[in-house]
Amino acid sequence: MEAVIRLTDVRKMYGKGGSRVTALGGVTVDFHRRAFTAVMGPSGSGKSTLLQCAAGLDEPTSGSVKLAGQELAGLDETQLTLLRREKVGFIFQSFNLLPALTAQQNVTLPLQLAGRKVDKRLVRTVLEEVGLGDRRDHRPDEMSGGQQQRVAIARALVTRPDVIFADEPTGALDTKTAKSVLTLMQHAVRAEGQTIVMVTHDPVAASYADRVVFLADGVFAGELFQPTVEAVAEHLAHLGADSPRAAAGVYARETL
Ligand code: ADP
Repeated sequence: MEAVIRLTDVRKMYGKGGSRVTALGGVTVDFHRRAFTAVMGPSGSGKSTLLQCAAGLDEPTSGSVKLAGQELAGLDETQLTLLRREKVGFIFQSFNLLPALTAQQNVTLPLQLAGRKVDKRLVRTVLEEVGLGDRRDHRPDEMSGGQQQRVAIARALVTRPDVIFADEPTGALDTKTAKSVLTLMQHAVRAEGQTIVMVTHDPVAASYADRVVFLADGVFAGELFQPTVEAVAEHLAHLGADSPRAAAGVYARETL
């Protein structure tokens, strides 16, 4: 399987001296093209940091991140911004739509920012794909949470990016709406060949993915393919009880 993102021995430390925190302690992982991958782990295990480093939003302290074959280390802010606009889409828990813009305008924005020709038919097609063909002219405050997240998904899909990062995309939605949003994301991968990396703490959300990558204390802590809710929950429970870093004596080594 082709890796669209490749992290090699990625470390990320925050702070200095006594307040130094190891958010990622040497993570090596591939995210495959045309796959829906969930990243899970206990709170504080480094999920957000991993996503930020993988998306070029934060710089690892050491290690390599390759996105669509491009090494991110050494790129300056402008180059990273251009790379993100060109190759990455984002879906957030809080939707992050621009309130003054209609659904259609919100979805058009990434094309404009990337300096691409605005193909109105493409924008309409993507809005239809997410089931909002009849909501084009609505503003975010005229839509439900689920509809707003569908607009955000359309906004992420419209540039046909190499990878879409989703950070707790169903965290603000009720169970039923969450399921329809997850089904839509699954469809984008299976039917349209998109690549999605989703951070979640919810085993039900993770069960929609093709693969779950687990983190604990900032290191890789196993993976599951074709995950069931039960298998994910069981793996998570095990992580909470017995952290691999603690078991490996990593803390002891670092404090010496
Ligand atoms: P998760 O997303 O799994 O909850 P995070 O990646 O947010 O985990 O955090 C991993 C660790 O790094 C935690 O101990 C957290 O407190 C720490 N951390 C994250 N961001 C910062 C920051 N900006 N400054 C200092 N510590 C941070």
